[in-house]
Amino acid sequence: MKKMIYLDHAATTRTVKEAVDAMLPFFMESYGNASSIYSLGAESKKAVNAARETIAQSIGATPQEIYFTAGGSEADNWALIAAAEANSDKGKHIITSRIEHHAILHTCAYLEQRGFEITYVDVDEDGVIKLKELEAAIRRDTILISVMFANNEIGTIQPIKEIGEIARARGILFHTDAVQAYGHVPVTLSRYPVDMLSASAHKIGGPKGIGFLYIRSGVRIRSFIHGGQQERGRRAGTENVPGIVGFGAAAKKAMDTLAERMERERQLRDYLIDRIEKEIPYCRLNGHRTQRLPGNVNFSFRFVEGESLLIMLDMKGICASSGSACTSGSLDPSHVLLAIGLAHETAHGSLRLTLDSENTREELDFTMEAIKEIVDKLRNMSPLYEDFIKKQEKAQAQTL
Ligand SMILES: *Cc1c(COP(=O)(O)O)cnc(C)c1O
Repeated sequence: MKKMIYLDHAATTRTVKEAVDAMLPFFMESYGNASSIYSLGAESKKAVNAARETIAQSIGATPQEIYFTAGGSEADNWALIAAAEANSDKGKHIITSRIEHHAILHTCAYLEQRGFEITYVDVDEDGVIKLKELEAAIRRDTILISVMFANNEIGTIQPIKEIGEIARARGILFHTDAVQAYGHVPVTLSRYPVDMLSASAHKIGGPKGIGFLYIRSGVRIRSFIHGGQQERGRRAGTENVPGIVGFGAAAKKAMDTLAERMERERQLRDYLIDRIEKEIPYCRLNGHRTQRLPGNVNFSFRFVEGESLLIMLDMKGICASSGSACTSGSLDPSHVLLAIGLAHETAHGSLRLTLDSENTREELDFTMEAIKEIVDKLRNMSPLYEDFIKKQEKAQAQTL
């Protein structure tokens, strides 16, 4: 098999061995229902409690504030819908940003149909939310603010502390979608005043289909899945014991290695950013240069079609993304790239490479050569590029 270079860690990650090893006994040996009273069930319950403890510690919460869900999307849906409904007697206005994940944006659209009013706050050209605009959007009937911790496409990290302080000072609930940040940068509640926080296992080396919603104790929110008494009656359904155990193991590893991984990913990231900027003309780095996830690289290449670039990279064994995994397959340019002010054509020519500390310089060098070759090839096929070069030559001739 051809060697594969995986540079799409924001879409999902390979499950770490520690997580798989921890999960395996919970399929065929300790398969009891965590709610049963015999000891087979108690083994499951004990493992779920241990994972809850590990995850609570990882953000500085209490175990009672961690609610397991079937992933980041469910946590986002729960936070928004259930908090909106539980607080609708106080008002029906919600504030979010233009660059949220679809799990937030499409939930907001749903809430709009249900009579809630949503304000979408703009971001600047680096993708940082405009705090003044956010503050100005607050009304007497604002009940909830939801702003993501870090963006999944361009990697920009938001001023979560400042937003949390604004919300808290006015008694407004604050939720953050921390799916891209959790396990990749420190997400500590003592530093960030948030009321609800979403995270997902498969973005940090855990299994797919498991996540959590942190709900600060005292927050007014209703249950999300109705049924049994699991998750303190707020999220019914037999616990996904292997998933929860795997998430716990992945979270533990992520926390134990956080500082060194961040350092290594930053080095790889900046190496790749430097090389692209130096070696490929007519490109633009998307997202904030420093307030950025350690593993995120996102560029737009003028006169290049992103989908073609992806297909040709795939032929060389390189997995990358042109925006977010959820939007590829559709021809609409990414709402995030449009929100930071890119023209449609430029947004279409974008490439996201998301690294992990286990990627190597050699992989990046190979990728770099591949991108250069493909961008050249695609530009040489582009009539727009031909026109552009002719105009440039003409302008140059005139100034000589
Ligand atoms: C991946 C992702 C989600 C969705 O998480 P799932 O576990 O895949 O449902 C939500 N928000 C952000 C920012 C993400 O990157």
